[in-house]
Amino acid sequence: MSFLANALSRVKPSATIMVTQKARDLKAQGREIISLSVGEPDFDTPDNIKKAAVDAINRGETKYPPVSGIMPLREAIAAKFKRENGLDYKPTQTIVGTGGKHILFNAFMATINSGDEVIIPAPYWVSYPEMVLLCDGKPVIVNTHMRHAFKLQAADLEKAITPRTKWLILNSPSNPTGAAYTHDELKALTDVLMRHPHVWILTDDIYEHLTYGDFKFTTPAQVEPGLIDRTLTMNGMSKAYAMTGWRIGYAAGPNQLIKAMDMIQGQQTSGACTIAQWASVEALNGTQSFLAPRRKAFEERRDLVVSMLGQAKYLQCPKPEGAFYVYPSCADAMGKKTPDGKVLNTDEDFVGALLEAEGVAVVHGSAFGLGPNFRVSYATSTDVLEAACRKIQSFTASLV
Ligand code: PLP
Repeated sequence: MSFLANALSRVKPSATIMVTQKARDLKAQGREIISLSVGEPDFDTPDNIKKAAVDAINRGETKYPPVSGIMPLREAIAAKFKRENGLDYKPTQTIVGTGGKHILFNAFMATINSGDEVIIPAPYWVSYPEMVLLCDGKPVIVNTHMRHAFKLQAADLEKAITPRTKWLILNSPSNPTGAAYTHDELKALTDVLMRHPHVWILTDDIYEHLTYGDFKFTTPAQVEPGLIDRTLTMNGMSKAYAMTGWRIGYAAGPNQLIKAMDMIQGQQTSGACTIAQWASVEALNGTQSFLAPRRKAFEERRDLVVSMLGQAKYLQCPKPEGAFYVYPSCADAMGKKTPDGKVLNTDEDFVGALLEAEGVAVVHGSAFGLGPNFRVSYATSTDVLEAACRKIQSFTASLV
């Protein structure tokens, strides 16, 4: 009998963390490594937010929070949903968790019974299927295609729905592709869900503020108000406010679900860090003026990377609407050989050989459930990105 729980045998470690670790190990051996594998903004948390945390400490806001979050933050979240998304949630319909990841996990724990199905479009953020598996659910992976900009198609969604379907997870803008759904693209999907009243939708809007050009962000409950009673709209502080280490995520949804998540959280963490919650009140209610210049910097980086990777032999790099990732295809490099004779049969071979030859760390697409592709994070300076893309170009040019 194994001491460890059976649930652990159902999941695998995060590939993104493994790649980051491999790059660190090579660095420790003295290799010069450029890592384009990180999932967090390179910007610092804005000063007004940091100050709000210090002020909270000095005021003695250092005790346990209410389980679902401090009321000023829940009010700020409700106001944010109204202001930015046109959604009417009462503060009591919101919940604060220890990061968006924790919110998702709680939602699954609160709703999934053994064998319940969760539809996950691929490529997906690495944690979705693993969370579902840990909760004894069944991830139902639906592939998207590069020709559809990696966006789920209504007909494919319809085909994947069964009587056991509990949730559809939708992440826009997406990690790993950067793809973001327009109003009409979302409407096509919400129309399908309107025909299947037993299916709920969990929207991961964590990259909401990182969209470029004239793209207009929208979220399913806004596009189809008829879904409001079976939508959990999730968001968080990590990406927009450069607060990954503060660990604050949140969601809004129907009372019954929020209450269930509150009950789980009450037995689990007793709520998210009080100080980080006060900082988040300032993030949501305070000035948003730093968002535009940061968005502009990300947009320039995206354009640079898309252009340089587009010129690399054997690569095709679509231009996504948001987040800080691109997801080029390396399909044309499959079957090619490196100068030292290694045949590249998979995208994992490709990224391994790239790391070996040029010291550039990216994450293979198969880790996100769809390849042969790889994910490039452009949350770093243009100098670093230029150097890395030149190295990727040399690597693909060296293949025979
Ligand atoms: N959702 C997506 C798509 C992400 O990429 C991440 C972080 O990488 C998260 C959720 C979780 O963010 P956090 O737990 O920091 O709020």
